[in-house]
Amino acid sequence: MRLFDYHRPTTVGETSALMAELGDEAALLAGGTSLMNLAKLGLAEPAHVIALRDVDELHGLDGDPVQGLRLGAMTTLRAVETSESVRALAPGLAEAAHHVATVRIRNQATVGGNLVHADPNQDLPPMLMVYDAVARITGPDGVRTVPVADMFVGFFESVLEPDEILDSVSVPPCAPGLRSGYLKFLPRTQDDYSTIAVAAGLQVRDGRITHARIAVAGGGSTAVRCRAAETALVGNGTDDATLTAAADIVPGLLDPVADGRGSSGYKRDMARVCTQRLLQRLVAEGAA
Ligand SMILES: Cc1cc2nc3c(=O)[nH]c(=O)nc-3n(C[C@H](O)[C@H](O)[C@H](O)COP(=O)(O)OP(=O)(O)OC[C@H]3O[C@@H](n4cnc5c(N)ncnc54)[C@H](O)[C@@H]3O)c2cc1C
Repeated sequence: MRLFDYHRPTTVGETSALMAELGDEAALLAGGTSLMNLAKLGLAEPAHVIALRDVDELHGLDGDPVQGLRLGAMTTLRAVETSESVRALAPGLAEAAHHVATVRIRNQATVGGNLVHADPNQDLPPMLMVYDAVARITGPDGVRTVPVADMFVGFFESVLEPDEILDSVSVPPCAPGLRSGYLKFLPRTQDDYSTIAVAAGLQVRDGRITHARIAVAGGGSTAVRCRAAETALVGNGTDDATLTAAADIVPGLLDPVADGRGSSGYKRDMARVCTQRLLQRLVAEGAA
Protein backbone atom coordinates (compact mmCIF):
# COMPACT_ATOMS: atom_id res chain seq x y z
CA MET A 1 0.00 0.00 0.00
CA ARG A 2 1.37 3.42 -1.00
CA LEU A 3 2.05 6.00 1.75
CA PHE A 4 -0.12 9.08 1.53
CA ASP A 5 -0.35 12.58 2.96
CA TYR A 6 -3.20 12.91 5.42
CA HIS A 7 -5.42 16.02 5.55
CA ARG A 8 -8.05 16.92 8.17
CA PRO A 9 -10.26 19.78 7.00
CA THR A 10 -12.98 21.02 9.36
CA THR A 11 -15.54 22.43 6.89
CA VAL A 12 -17.07 21.37 3.58
CA GLY A 13 -15.59 24.55 2.06
CA GLU A 14 -12.06 23.59 3.14
CA THR A 15 -12.64 20.05 1.87
CA SER A 16 -13.72 21.35 -1.55
CA ALA A 17 -10.70 23.66 -1.73
CA LEU A 18 -8.36 20.76 -0.92
CA MET A 19 -10.05 18.59 -3.56
CA ALA A 20 -9.62 21.36 -6.15
CA GLU A 21 -5.95 21.78 -5.22
CA LEU A 22 -5.03 18.07 -5.10
CA GLY A 23 -7.23 16.82 -7.98
CA ASP A 24 -7.09 13.13 -8.93
CA GLU A 25 -4.30 12.47 -6.44
CA ALA A 26 -6.71 12.80 -3.50
CA ALA A 27 -9.41 10.51 -2.06
CA LEU A 28 -12.01 11.32 0.58
CA LEU A 29 -11.93 9.07 3.64
CA ALA A 30 -15.07 8.46 5.71
CA GLY A 31 -15.06 5.21 7.75
CA GLY A 32 -12.39 3.69 5.51
CA THR A 33 -13.96 0.22 5.38
CA SER A 34 -14.02 0.23 1.57
CA LEU A 35 -11.27 2.69 0.73
CA MET A 36 -8.62 0.97 2.84
CA ASN A 37 -9.48 -2.42 1.37
CA LEU A 38 -9.18 -0.97 -2.14
CA ALA A 39 -5.84 0.60 -1.18
CA LYS A 40 -4.57 -2.71 0.22
CA LEU A 41 -5.51 -4.42 -3.05
CA GLY A 42 -3.80 -1.69 -5.09
CA LEU A 43 -7.11 -0.66 -6.66
CA ALA A 44 -6.92 2.83 -5.12
CA GLU A 45 -3.54 4.49 -4.61
CA PRO A 46 -4.22 8.06 -3.52
CA ALA A 47 -1.19 10.27 -2.78
CA HIS A 48 -3.44 12.35 -0.49
CA VAL A 49 -6.23 11.23 1.79
CA ILE A 50 -8.74 13.85 2.96
CA ALA A 51 -10.38 12.66 6.18
CA LEU A 52 -13.98 13.82 6.69
CA ARG A 53 -14.21 12.99 10.41
CA ASP A 54 -13.69 16.58 11.62
CA VAL A 55 -16.18 18.15 9.20
CA ASP A 56 -19.09 18.89 11.56
CA GLU A 57 -21.55 19.69 8.74
CA LEU A 58 -21.34 16.06 7.57
CA HIS A 59 -22.32 14.62 10.96
CA GLY A 60 -25.72 14.40 12.65
CA LEU A 61 -28.93 12.43 12.38
CA ASP A 62 -32.15 14.41 12.85
CA GLY A 63 -35.73 13.36 12.38
CA ASP A 64 -39.30 14.43 12.97
CA PRO A 65 -42.60 13.30 11.46
CA VAL A 66 -43.11 16.55 9.55
CA GLN A 67 -39.65 17.04 8.05
CA GLY A 68 -38.62 13.39 7.80
CA LEU A 69 -35.04 12.27 8.41
CA ARG A 70 -31.73 13.92 7.63
CA LEU A 71 -28.72 11.63 7.77
CA GLY A 72 -25.38 13.44 7.61
CA ALA A 73 -22.98 11.63 5.28
CA MET A 74 -20.75 10.69 8.25
CA THR A 75 -23.60 8.99 10.16
CA THR A 76 -22.44 5.46 10.92
CA LEU A 77 -24.54 2.46 9.89
CA ARG A 78 -24.66 1.49 13.57
CA ALA A 79 -26.27 4.86 14.36
CA VAL A 80 -28.83 4.24 11.58
CA GLU A 81 -29.53 0.78 12.99
CA THR A 82 -30.02 1.94 16.58
CA SER A 83 -31.54 5.43 16.21
CA GLU A 84 -35.01 5.82 17.74
CA SER A 85 -35.84 8.39 15.03
CA VAL A 86 -34.96 5.99 12.23
CA ARG A 87 -36.86 3.15 13.89
CA ALA A 88 -39.92 5.36 14.22
CA LEU A 89 -39.85 7.12 10.83
CA ALA A 90 -38.16 4.60 8.52
CA PRO A 91 -38.03 1.23 10.30
CA GLY A 92 -37.00 -0.63 7.14
CA LEU A 93 -33.84 1.45 7.02
CA ALA A 94 -32.87 0.42 10.56
CA GLU A 95 -33.60 -3.18 9.54
CA ALA A 96 -31.41 -2.95 6.40
CA ALA A 97 -28.55 -1.31 8.36
CA HIS A 98 -28.74 -4.14 10.93
CA HIS A 99 -27.96 -6.60 8.11
CA VAL A 100 -24.68 -4.93 7.08
CA ALA A 101 -21.66 -7.09 7.96
CA THR A 102 -20.81 -7.03 11.69
CA VAL A 103 -21.18 -4.48 14.52
CA ARG A 104 -17.48 -3.59 14.14
CA ILE A 105 -17.96 -2.69 10.47
CA ARG A 106 -21.26 -0.89 11.18
CA ASN A 107 -19.54 1.21 13.88
CA GLN A 108 -17.10 2.50 11.27
CA ALA A 109 -18.91 2.44 7.91
CA THR A 110 -20.90 5.56 7.01
CA VAL A 111 -24.02 6.37 5.01
CA GLY A 112 -21.98 8.57 2.63
CA GLY A 113 -19.37 5.89 2.05
CA ASN A 114 -22.02 3.22 1.52
CA LEU A 115 -23.68 5.28 -1.23
CA VAL A 116 -20.59 6.67 -2.96
CA HIS A 117 -18.82 3.29 -3.00
CA ALA A 118 -21.80 2.18 -5.14
CA ASP A 119 -21.34 -1.56 -4.73
CA PRO A 120 -24.56 -3.08 -6.16
CA ASN A 121 -24.68 -5.64 -3.34
CA GLN A 122 -24.86 -3.07 -0.53
CA ASP A 123 -27.88 -3.02 1.74
CA LEU A 124 -28.71 0.67 2.22
CA PRO A 125 -29.32 1.82 -1.40
CA PRO A 126 -32.43 -0.31 -2.15
CA MET A 127 -34.03 0.59 1.18
CA LEU A 128 -33.32 4.29 0.62
CA MET A 129 -34.96 3.92 -2.82
CA VAL A 130 -38.08 2.51 -1.15
CA TYR A 131 -38.25 5.63 1.04
CA ASP A 132 -37.75 8.00 -1.94
CA ALA A 133 -34.60 9.33 -0.27
CA VAL A 134 -32.66 12.18 -1.84
CA ALA A 135 -28.90 12.78 -1.72
CA ARG A 136 -27.51 16.29 -1.25
CA ILE A 137 -24.26 16.81 -3.10
CA THR A 138 -21.88 19.79 -2.84
CA GLY A 139 -19.47 20.66 -5.64
CA PRO A 140 -17.58 23.64 -7.03
CA ASP A 141 -20.78 24.93 -8.68
CA GLY A 142 -22.89 24.72 -5.52
CA VAL A 143 -25.36 22.20 -4.17
CA ARG A 144 -27.49 19.74 -6.16
CA THR A 145 -29.93 17.05 -5.07
CA VAL A 146 -30.32 13.62 -6.68
CA PRO A 147 -32.89 10.94 -5.76
CA VAL A 148 -31.04 7.86 -4.51
CA ALA A 149 -32.98 5.91 -7.17
CA ASP A 150 -31.04 7.91 -9.84
CA MET A 151 -27.66 7.90 -8.09
CA PHE A 152 -26.03 4.83 -9.56
CA VAL A 153 -24.73 4.47 -13.11
CA GLY A 154 -22.76 1.22 -13.03
CA PHE A 155 -20.56 -1.10 -10.99
CA PHE A 156 -18.97 0.97 -8.22
CA GLU A 157 -19.97 4.14 -10.07
CA SER A 158 -22.27 6.87 -8.85
CA VAL A 159 -23.29 10.19 -10.42
CA LEU A 160 -20.86 12.06 -8.16
CA GLU A 161 -18.10 13.91 -9.98
CA PRO A 162 -14.59 13.48 -8.55
CA ASP A 163 -14.73 17.01 -7.07
CA GLU A 164 -18.11 16.54 -5.36
CA ILE A 165 -18.93 15.63 -1.75
CA LEU A 166 -22.07 13.83 -0.63
CA ASP A 167 -23.09 15.88 2.37
CA SER A 168 -26.34 14.28 3.53
CA VAL A 169 -29.32 12.10 2.64
CA SER A 170 -32.93 13.13 3.32
CA VAL A 171 -35.77 10.72 3.81
CA PRO A 172 -39.09 12.52 3.32
CA PRO A 173 -42.04 11.74 5.60
CA CYS A 174 -43.46 8.34 4.64
CA ALA A 175 -46.81 7.76 2.99
CA PRO A 176 -49.23 7.42 5.97
CA GLY A 177 -49.30 3.87 7.29
CA LEU A 178 -46.46 2.71 5.03
CA ARG A 179 -45.26 -0.77 5.98
CA SER A 180 -41.68 -1.40 4.94
CA GLY A 181 -39.12 -4.13 5.31
CA TYR A 182 -35.96 -5.77 4.05
CA LEU A 183 -35.30 -9.41 3.22
CA LYS A 184 -31.65 -10.38 2.74
CA PHE A 185 -30.87 -13.84 1.42
CA LEU A 186 -27.33 -14.86 2.36
CA PRO A 187 -26.77 -18.59 2.46
CA ARG A 188 -23.11 -18.42 3.54
CA THR A 189 -22.32 -16.45 6.74
CA GLN A 190 -24.41 -13.87 8.62
CA ASP A 191 -21.88 -11.08 7.91
CA ASP A 192 -21.66 -11.65 4.14
CA TYR A 193 -23.04 -9.55 1.33
CA SER A 194 -26.33 -10.91 0.06
CA THR A 195 -26.89 -13.32 -2.79
CA ILE A 196 -29.94 -11.17 -3.36
CA ALA A 197 -31.84 -8.78 -1.10
CA VAL A 198 -35.21 -7.10 -1.51
CA ALA A 199 -36.51 -3.88 0.04
CA ALA A 200 -40.21 -3.08 -0.15
CA GLY A 201 -42.80 -0.61 1.06
CA LEU A 202 -46.59 -0.94 0.86
CA GLN A 203 -49.43 1.40 1.77
CA VAL A 204 -52.84 -0.27 1.95
CA ARG A 205 -56.16 1.55 2.31
CA ASP A 206 -59.58 -0.13 2.49
CA GLY A 207 -58.00 -3.39 1.30
CA ARG A 208 -56.37 -1.79 -1.81
CA ILE A 209 -52.68 -1.10 -2.34
CA THR A 210 -52.33 2.65 -2.81
CA HIS A 211 -48.53 2.99 -2.87
CA ALA A 212 -45.77 0.46 -3.54
CA ARG A 213 -41.99 0.44 -3.76
CA ILE A 214 -39.70 -2.50 -4.51
CA ALA A 215 -35.92 -2.38 -4.96
CA VAL A 216 -33.27 -5.08 -5.13
CA ALA A 217 -29.59 -5.41 -4.15
CA GLY A 218 -27.44 -7.93 -6.01
CA GLY A 219 -29.63 -7.86 -9.10
CA GLY A 220 -27.28 -6.14 -11.55
CA SER A 221 -24.54 -3.54 -11.88
CA THR A 222 -26.47 -1.17 -9.59
CA ALA A 223 -29.23 -1.44 -7.02
CA VAL A 224 -32.43 -1.80 -9.05
CA ARG A 225 -35.77 -0.12 -8.45
CA CYS A 226 -38.49 -2.42 -9.83
CA ARG A 227 -41.07 0.06 -11.11
CA ALA A 228 -43.03 -2.41 -13.28
CA ALA A 229 -43.61 -4.66 -10.27
CA GLU A 230 -44.74 -1.66 -8.20
CA THR A 231 -47.24 -0.72 -10.92
CA ALA A 232 -48.64 -4.26 -10.85
CA LEU A 233 -49.49 -3.81 -7.17
CA VAL A 234 -51.05 -0.35 -7.05
CA GLY A 235 -54.85 -0.32 -7.30
CA ASN A 236 -55.13 -4.03 -6.54
CA GLY A 237 -56.01 -5.98 -3.40
CA THR A 238 -53.54 -7.71 -1.11
CA ASP A 239 -54.48 -11.26 -2.17
CA ASP A 240 -51.75 -13.80 -2.92
CA ALA A 241 -52.46 -13.73 -6.67
CA THR A 242 -51.64 -10.01 -6.81
CA LEU A 243 -48.46 -10.37 -4.75
CA THR A 244 -47.33 -13.37 -6.81
CA ALA A 245 -47.99 -11.55 -10.10
CA ALA A 246 -45.86 -8.61 -8.93
CA ALA A 247 -43.06 -10.89 -7.68
CA ASP A 248 -43.08 -12.75 -11.02
CA ILE A 249 -42.20 -9.48 -12.80
CA VAL A 250 -39.05 -8.83 -10.72
CA PRO A 251 -36.63 -11.41 -12.28
CA GLY A 252 -37.15 -9.91 -15.74
CA LEU A 253 -36.05 -6.49 -14.46
CA LEU A 254 -32.70 -7.81 -13.21
CA ASP A 255 -29.38 -8.73 -14.78
CA PRO A 256 -27.48 -10.34 -11.91
CA VAL A 257 -23.80 -11.22 -12.17
CA ALA A 258 -22.88 -14.86 -11.56
CA ASP A 259 -20.36 -15.13 -8.73
CA GLY A 260 -19.53 -17.22 -5.67
CA ARG A 261 -22.92 -16.34 -4.18
CA GLY A 262 -24.90 -17.87 -7.05
CA SER A 263 -25.54 -18.06 -10.78
CA SER A 264 -27.46 -15.34 -12.55
CA GLY A 265 -30.51 -17.60 -12.90
CA TYR A 266 -30.42 -18.60 -9.23
CA LYS A 267 -30.27 -14.96 -8.15
CA ARG A 268 -33.25 -14.13 -10.40
CA ASP A 269 -35.23 -17.00 -8.88
CA MET A 270 -34.33 -15.94 -5.36
CA ALA A 271 -35.32 -12.35 -6.12
CA ARG A 272 -38.79 -13.60 -7.06
CA VAL A 273 -39.06 -15.77 -3.95
CA CYS A 274 -37.77 -13.01 -1.63
CA THR A 275 -40.10 -10.39 -3.15
CA GLN A 276 -43.12 -12.64 -2.72
CA ARG A 277 -42.20 -13.51 0.89
CA LEU A 278 -41.50 -9.91 1.82
CA LEU A 279 -44.77 -8.65 0.32
CA GLN A 280 -46.66 -11.40 2.15
CA ARG A 281 -44.92 -10.39 5.38
CA LEU A 282 -45.87 -6.73 4.94
CA VAL A 283 -49.50 -7.65 4.23
CA ALA A 284 -49.61 -9.96 7.28
CA GLU A 285 -48.15 -7.20 9.49
CA GLY A 286 -51.06 -4.98 8.49
CA ALA A 287 -53.57 -7.69 9.39
CA ALA A 288 -51.99 -8.27 12.81
C1 LIG B 1 -15.86 -7.09 5.83
C2 LIG B 1 -16.87 -6.17 5.19
C3 LIG B 1 -18.16 -6.61 5.03
C4 LIG B 1 -19.12 -5.78 4.44
N1 LIG B 1 -20.40 -6.22 4.32
C5 LIG B 1 -21.34 -5.38 3.85
C6 LIG B 1 -22.70 -5.76 3.78
O1 LIG B 1 -23.08 -6.87 4.16
N2 LIG B 1 -23.60 -4.87 3.30
C7 LIG B 1 -23.23 -3.61 2.90
O2 LIG B 1 -24.09 -2.82 2.51
N3 LIG B 1 -21.95 -3.23 2.94
C8 LIG B 1 -21.01 -4.07 3.40
N4 LIG B 1 -19.72 -3.67 3.46
C9 LIG B 1 -19.38 -2.38 2.85
C10 LIG B 1 -19.48 -1.27 3.82
O3 LIG B 1 -20.81 -1.06 4.21
C11 LIG B 1 -18.99 -0.08 3.09
O4 LIG B 1 -17.62 -0.35 2.94
C12 LIG B 1 -19.17 1.18 3.85
O5 LIG B 1 -20.52 1.55 3.99
C13 LIG B 1 -18.43 2.32 3.20
O6 LIG B 1 -18.48 3.39 4.11
P1 LIG B 1 -17.12 3.99 4.67
O7 LIG B 1 -17.54 5.14 5.52
O8 LIG B 1 -16.26 3.00 5.29
O9 LIG B 1 -16.49 4.54 3.30
P2 LIG B 1 -14.97 4.73 2.88
O10 LIG B 1 -14.30 3.41 2.73
O11 LIG B 1 -14.31 5.74 3.73
O12 LIG B 1 -15.23 5.38 1.43
C14 LIG B 1 -15.81 4.62 0.38
C15 LIG B 1 -15.80 5.49 -0.90
O13 LIG B 1 -16.71 6.57 -0.76
C16 LIG B 1 -16.02 7.83 -0.90
N5 LIG B 1 -16.68 8.72 0.07
C17 LIG B 1 -16.91 8.46 1.38
N6 LIG B 1 -17.65 9.43 1.93
C18 LIG B 1 -17.89 10.35 0.96
C19 LIG B 1 -18.63 11.57 0.90
N7 LIG B 1 -19.24 12.06 1.99
N8 LIG B 1 -18.67 12.25 -0.28
C20 LIG B 1 -18.05 11.74 -1.37
N9 LIG B 1 -17.34 10.59 -1.39
C21 LIG B 1 -17.27 9.89 -0.23
C22 LIG B 1 -14.57 7.54 -0.59
O14 LIG B 1 -13.70 8.46 -1.21
C23 LIG B 1 -14.43 6.14 -1.18
O15 LIG B 1 -14.29 6.20 -2.57
C24 LIG B 1 -18.75 -4.48 4.02
C25 LIG B 1 -17.43 -4.02 4.18
C26 LIG B 1 -16.49 -4.85 4.77
C27 LIG B 1 -15.08 -4.34 4.94
